[in-house]
Amino acid sequence: MSGTELAAEIVRTTADRAAEFERRTGTKPCLATVLVGDDPASVTYVKMKRNRCAKAGITSHHVPLPEETTTEQLVATIRELSADPTVHGILLQHPVPAHIDERAAFEAIAAEKDVDGVTMHSFAAMAFKEKGFASCTPGGIMRLLDAYDVDPSGKHAVVIGRSPILGKPAAMLLLARDATVTVCHSRTKDLPSIVRTADIVVAAVGRAEFVRGDWLKPGAVVIDAGYNEGNVGDVAFDEALPHASLITPVPGGVGPTTIALLLEQTVTAAFATLG
Ligand code: NAP
Repeated sequence: MSGTELAAEIVRTTADRAAEFERRTGTKPCLATVLVGDDPASVTYVKMKRNRCAKAGITSHHVPLPEETTTEQLVATIRELSADPTVHGILLQHPVPAHIDERAAFEAIAAEKDVDGVTMHSFAAMAFKEKGFASCTPGGIMRLLDAYDVDPSGKHAVVIGRSPILGKPAAMLLLARDATVTVCHSRTKDLPSIVRTADIVVAAVGRAEFVRGDWLKPGAVVIDAGYNEGNVGDVAFDEALPHASLITPVPGGVGPTTIALLLEQTVTAAFATLG
């Protein structure tokens, strides 16, 4: 399953919509990117997101903050962005330094600007099938399934990982589409035998080549959301290939769709301000 191709398609449509927004309002859609500290991976991710914004006709307003920023300072900065009418979407790059209460910072993002889908409001919207922004990586996973005509309805989906930005929202979105969902985590017993019952496997663990080929049921659809050192996913790709009917590569699978969704949702947030 090519996330690169799907993302290019989403970005093309998004760029057209961004241009339409600019024609109508005289301004481009605007994403505020907040980065605390200088973790090299986070710096690279934010740079990539801002580059993609520029290519799609979205302005990015970058707010770099020092490592020693307190929770109170970060919350105040995000509240200002939430109240700023020139900002349509807010991205707080995850993870923030350990001394900061990340949840408090996320919750300072106004629901209508939560284009990365990280607030409790957005999570509840995903869980209750209400209007709201999807968490970008899980949202991208659902778009990949749709693009390859995989209907989750009635299928057994096994999600490995339960993080607030990936495993849990992915499980909620699959449940909302009528999959029967099992969520596995570090305390799960006999994971391979659970994975062997899955029609759809979502690997969101953060351990290189953790899911082995012989864990997969023949014909399973395998979504590898992992991204580990050396460009390696959470699934042993070569082993999985003969068992899976569809599989996402790493890189070029889930990663590009995540950024595409961020851009798409930023433009959607901008249009929503027009009423
Ligand atoms: P995380 O917060 O570290 O969560 C990892 C999850 O895996 C946890 O729920 C943990 O269980 C579970 N886990 C750990 N060891 C396990 C084991 N032995 N068996 C079963 N479950 C186990 O990581 P994350 O932020 O969700 O990210 C996961 C992966 O996705 C990483 O490789 C990350 O780089 C990648 N990622 C990719 C994108 C993208 O855009 N493509 C975006 C975000 C993340 P507990 O809850 O019990 O600890």
